[in-house]
Amino acid sequence: MKHIPFPLTITLPKEVLSIASILHEHNHEAYVVGGCVRDILIGREPKDWDITTNANPDQLVKLFPHSHYDNTYGTVKVVNDTALNDNLRVVEVTTFRTESGYSDNRRPDNVSFSSRLEDDLARRDFTINALALPLNVYVSHETLQTDITTSVSREIIIDLYGGMTDLEQGTIRTVGNPKERFDEDALRLMRAIRFASQLSFVIEQETLEALTEYHDRLETIAKERIQTEFSLLLLSDNPSFGLETARRTGLLQHIAPELLEGVGMEQNQAHAFTVWEHLLRTLQAAADRKWGLELRLAALFHDVGKPATREWNKAKHQWTFYGHDVIGAKMTKMILKRLVYPLHTIDTVTRLVRWHMFFSDTETVTLSAVRRLVRNVGEENIKDLLKLRRADRIGTGRPKEEPYRFRKFASMVDEALRSPTSVAMLAIKGSDLIETFHVKPGPVIGQILSILLEEVLDDPTRNTREYLLDRTAFHMKHTPEELSILARAGKDRLLKEEEEALKVVRSKHRVE
Ligand code: ATP
Ligand code: MG
Repeated sequence: MKHIPFPLTITLPKEVLSIASILHEHNHEAYVVGGCVRDILIGREPKDWDITTNANPDQLVKLFPHSHYDNTYGTVKVVNDTALNDNLRVVEVTTFRTESGYSDNRRPDNVSFSSRLEDDLARRDFTINALALPLNVYVSHETLQTDITTSVSREIIIDLYGGMTDLEQGTIRTVGNPKERFDEDALRLMRAIRFASQLSFVIEQETLEALTEYHDRLETIAKERIQTEFSLLLLSDNPSFGLETARRTGLLQHIAPELLEGVGMEQNQAHAFTVWEHLLRTLQAAADRKWGLELRLAALFHDVGKPATREWNKAKHQWTFYGHDVIGAKMTKMILKRLVYPLHTIDTVTRLVRWHMFFSDTETVTLSAVRRLVRNVGEENIKDLLKLRRADRIGTGRPKEEPYRFRKFASMVDEALRSPTSVAMLAIKGSDLIETFHVKPGPVIGQILSILLEEVLDDPTRNTREYLLDRTAFHMKHTPEELSILARAGKDRLLKEEEEALKVVRSKHRVE
């Protein structure tokens, strides 16, 4: 129980105040409503500001001629046009409404405008999101040019569903009957676990039961919307809690069912935790350090290939997970594609998962091996790969992670980064090949550059124009077939490794 310290000191943006003042001048009501009231009360900076009013959309468009009007929803996005300033916050102004008939489990078939605030609060998803703060008390003409800091008493907040108590007690509870509310709009299932995660709130029992009963309604929701909520959950302070709730309610089946294979799955002696617990702890370690979305996704999925590759080794008397990095990367790519993440995110996360097993014994690893690791994971991702390793170890329950060795490996990476690790960093370019050797633009150029990069990865002192032109002259004598084989040498090594790993899985599942 965390009491909200009323009277509360809050800051209202000038945009909100001037919109409210225009509405009041024309005898309309104006309230700040929804997520921003919730955030103000718990002392967080609201992400966006929403005003609700009894002015209808036509009146709104007349009052705010430079606003953007969303015809489908009757929402007016107002950039206050009294001051021409690029940094102005956009405020959404919405007419009081009721929504009904959600035949596709997502979008209301009917939006009917209303003249009563109560109707508008009743349509909102959770009690903590159904609070309203009247703006009439704050508006006077002198205050329009600046944000105002003012004080709010408990009595002034309009709270029809016990949202304030739920905020203080840390409870997520639907407005009205939870089954009906999830039935109307299945996105609320995701929103429930997302808010629980973001706020570290407990989902109230009846709401939780309804989540469990209606989890499969999530199938009716567009993947893009699931992705948005899933990312917000992962980016919260307490994602392991949100994900565990997703598992317990059954929602995880519709987000990333692959993760369920690791639930309860024992590993060998080095691991105190099951695969699922380890993934949650690794993710939480990344969240505790405030790392970004890509690292958190990689942390959550890095061992997703373990269940598919687990084999009992009789001699060693333990489980092995040979190739789980290769398989895990393929699975991760599939999962993220299904959730329609941007290509760049998919690529980065997949690479991190693919290379998370990198060899880092500083006694024996060579600099050229470190350079090849950088080449494989990408220069831009190598620092994140080291972070993933840190989170992975913490997630295993071995927080004392030999800091000396870790620093030594990190310094080898720094050293490796001083040498070329990609074709773009070679001392000659494709254009040199065209000018000096009259090579026609086409695949040969890329092939020769790849061959040269392999040579430079072995020994970076070779990265001089003179040496590389000399080697080019030599390679130009190869037939096109020979060139293409040489150019693939590095890549073929990788493909062979991947094939080996796939063999394990195929033999186990008797699939081709
Ligand atoms: P955030 O901090 O992520 O913006 P929010 O609660 O403000 O959280 P929004 O999506 O911005 O969420 O929506 C604003 C308000 O609109 C919510 O607080 C809630 O009152 C209402 N709302 C949003 N989505 C739904 C929904 N699917 N069903 C019912 N009410 C909703
Ligand atoms: Mg919001």
